[in-house]
Amino acid sequence: MRDGATSGALLDWYDIHARDMPWRVSPADRAAGVRPDPYRVWLSEVMLQQTTVAAVRDYFARFTALWPTVGDLAAAEDGRVMAEWAGLGYYARARNLLKCARAVVRDHGGVFPDTREALMSLPGIGPYTASAISAIAFDRAETVVDGNVERVMARLHDVHTPLPAAKPELTALAALHTPEARPGDYAQAVMDLGATICTPRSPACGICPWRDPCAARAEGTAPELPKKTPKKQKPVRHGVVFVGRRRDGAWLMERRPESGLLGGTLGWPGTAWVAVSEEVPEAIPPAEAEWRLLPAEALHTFTHFHLRLSIMVAEGLPASGGETASATLRPGAQGWVPRGDFRPSDMPTVMRKAFDLARSAMDNDA
Ligand code: SF4
Repeated sequence: MRDGATSGALLDWYDIHARDMPWRVSPADRAAGVRPDPYRVWLSEVMLQQTTVAAVRDYFARFTALWPTVGDLAAAEDGRVMAEWAGLGYYARARNLLKCARAVVRDHGGVFPDTREALMSLPGIGPYTASAISAIAFDRAETVVDGNVERVMARLHDVHTPLPAAKPELTALAALHTPEARPGDYAQAVMDLGATICTPRSPACGICPWRDPCAARAEGTAPELPKKTPKKQKPVRHGVVFVGRRRDGAWLMERRPESGLLGGTLGWPGTAWVAVSEEVPEAIPPAEAEWRLLPAEALHTFTHFHLRLSIMVAEGLPASGGETASATLRPGAQGWVPRGDFRPSDMPTVMRKAFDLARSAMDNDA
């Protein structure tokens, strides 16, 4: 059974209130026959995984200016792409982004496949992203369920089962409302409703296109839905990094190995990150110098743990060894990145935090 009345009311609302996004074709343009570019839809969906629309806008503009097509991205240098991705987090996504672009070029002639199943065979495209691309770019009647949609469905149907146990039920309910006509616009409309009207803390039920059929509004339970199973506390890990600068201003950096957390990103040499209940592995300096420990630590929170990073700094390291452009530093290797090529924005946030603390200590000493 599909529910045409609720989707119709939502699409009418979307025709007037659709958010303006750089990767989106407006409902008016869509009605006039403009088709979304699957490359831009895919890129935006990968960037938006666990990141906000506001945070993604600039990255999306830079990526599409540098690499306007999937073929351009497929031909890009890995280090350059990782550098442009820095700050968005979840670096496995950036590595999969490149793998996917190259698979589209190699296996599909540079054209994204248009079914959910074929999309799911590409690197980094899971069930959610495949449904989203299939619906938004190709107007297929796939059900797209993100956190916004779960919240809206839990309220529309007054579902009190806590998440994540409620996911299958909410997905089934979302499928009931997915229309055969304009499924791409519908998918974006539910997301917009969740982001702008049916917000987590104070849903604006008075101006909601679904206020009449909404069960939680009738029951007065909307603000407390969806229920969530309490999360376990995140563990804390610690480690050490070495931020060292040569007399000529070059920085001693390393690119992390391809696999693992922050894989393939640029940063500072250091120890493994272990549980605070364990001793930090012996911190062997990457070059001979008078390293000193900063009193402040870089603090950062990843998905599964908090990190406390101790920072060793040294300046005036002897000018031994050559120099390496940061983009060409290979995974697992260390090298001297010359002053002119060094950009803090090329590093992930945690390494930038360490750099900011090291830099202010160095400036204070100067
Ligand atoms: S009526 Fe209120 S709770 Fe129900 S869907 Fe609309 S904003 Fe959400």
